[in-house]
Amino acid sequence: MIGDPVKHSLGPRMYSRALAELGYPYSYVAIHVPGGSVIEALDSLREQGYWGVNVTVPHKKDAMEWCETLSDFASRVEAANTVDLRTKAGENTDAPGFMDTLDGLCERIGRALVLGAGGAARAVVAALCDAGWQVGVFNRTPSRAEELVGRLNCGAKALTSPDPGGCCLIVNATSASLFGEVPDLDWNRVETGALFYDLSYGEEATPFVALARSEGFVAVDGKLMLAAQGARSLEYWLGKPIPPEAMLRALR
Ligand code: NAP
Repeated sequence: MIGDPVKHSLGPRMYSRALAELGYPYSYVAIHVPGGSVIEALDSLREQGYWGVNVTVPHKKDAMEWCETLSDFASRVEAANTVDLRTKAGENTDAPGFMDTLDGLCERIGRALVLGAGGAARAVVAALCDAGWQVGVFNRTPSRAEELVGRLNCGAKALTSPDPGGCCLIVNATSASLFGEVPDLDWNRVETGALFYDLSYGEEATPFVALARSEGFVAVDGKLMLAAQGARSLEYWLGKPIPPEAMLRALR
């Protein structure tokens, strides 16, 4: 896994334990790669014999440019979080992983507010729209939310304020939690029973999850999504079915 930062990542622990439990003789490590050196890093990892890479903040776009082929979805959302170094192929397992986890959390498809306009937001917005959700997107830098909905052209709308009115799902797809911050949200407009989903995660509840819980809402962090997308990434590299439960167990 490459990213900047990577220290917070539970990925190495999850993959290593799951690979051991499933009887695969492979290892998984996190490598800090500063911005501007992603292409060189991927070339070097390939030369060293690594099979695959998960790409995290803020390198998903650079990784996509390194790839020679991309899945339709990765190309549409312009982010490859899973790369096969042997074939230089890129895939996005973030969004399908996120949708896998929603099945057990949301009773109905309705209106969702997505905060953020980076690679993770783009993937989640596209997948929610594909599944029939009505999606509003708010970002600290409004022009990026407008650009995101314009490029995806999937029916999502850019919002001028972080208004969760009418939403049964509020997704924090910003990286604010990584910096101990909570993105702006109009808490007075949150519907009773709304589910809060922070894509970020840590050993402790993230600031967004902690605040939502303190206001009496159900809130989950990105560990669920990490497990689901991890299972899909392993399937991509190994060509074998991987039970997401093994990944989730490995995170505990
Ligand atoms: P990214 O491309 O760097 O985008 C970051 C986004 O966060 C931008 O929209 C940025 O707004 C916004 N932001 C950053 N700090 C903020 C703050 N203090 N307040 C409000 N907005 C802020 O990152 P990404 O790849 O989309 O990833 C976003 C998060 O999702 C990361 O924390 C990542 O770890 C997590 N993630 C988790 C999983 C998982 O499996 N659980 C998978 C993918 C991603 P501006 O445009 O204004 O800069």
